[in-house]
Amino acid sequence: MKWLERLRTYRILKKHGLPDHLWHKTTQKLALLNYLDANQMAKLRILSTLFIYRKIFFGAHDFEITLEMKIIIAAQACLEIMELGIDSFEGWAEVVVYPSAFKVERETRDANGLVSTENNVLSGEAWGKGPVILSWEDVERDSFTLRGGHNVVIHEFAHKLDMLNGRANGMPPLHPEMKTSEWTASLSYAYERLIDQLKHNSNEVNAYASTNPAEFFAVMSEYYFTAPQILIKHYPKVYRELKAYYLIEITTNKK
Ligand SMILES: [Zn+2]
Repeated sequence: MKWLERLRTYRILKKHGLPDHLWHKTTQKLALLNYLDANQMAKLRILSTLFIYRKIFFGAHDFEITLEMKIIIAAQACLEIMELGIDSFEGWAEVVVYPSAFKVERETRDANGLVSTENNVLSGEAWGKGPVILSWEDVERDSFTLRGGHNVVIHEFAHKLDMLNGRANGMPPLHPEMKTSEWTASLSYAYERLIDQLKHNSNEVNAYASTNPAEFFAVMSEYYFTAPQILIKHYPKVYRELKAYYLIEITTNKK
């Protein structure tokens, strides 16, 4: 069926291609893409076109979503799946964009069964089979200058990859040549170390990563794409595992 899939892709690209000028103008501004070569940019354009074609973008509170905004989100999300393929973003359809950080109210149940309401202000969120939700203000802040360890698009779409094999638990479906035991050992060692460091305020990475293993994977992914040198220095085994998973080597040196 490969040929049929290729034909379908070709038709989408032909009929729903992104305008040249807008693609170049927009992606040139995206700090994450600075180091990509021409072949990688061409591949990213195909993936971004398919992404924009397949996903429904929805602006919350009547927030207007332009094609440029879609490209800004799609191009960064698709960098993450450059070697994993567009199907790794299957199984859900919507990208919801709020103008800025949004409030969520959740009921939580403690160990004794006591239910309480928790209010949080979020810059992004990813639901299992549901949408990816983003705050545009945060997307903009992270897109045009590289902020080491921070990129809300990378973060939320990493959760989507994690959830490909069930609940977010810090381990996406690994490639056949990867070892689950090595992934688990490398990431849990680093996770425990971070929790330990936080007791002395000596953490080397964003404390939010210590929330749970799913957040740890999402934050480590942010470092992998925005500040790989920090992972190489402090968490070389995490870096090695993420490289084996994402299959794209990041260098923040310009091309
Ligand atoms: Zn998260």
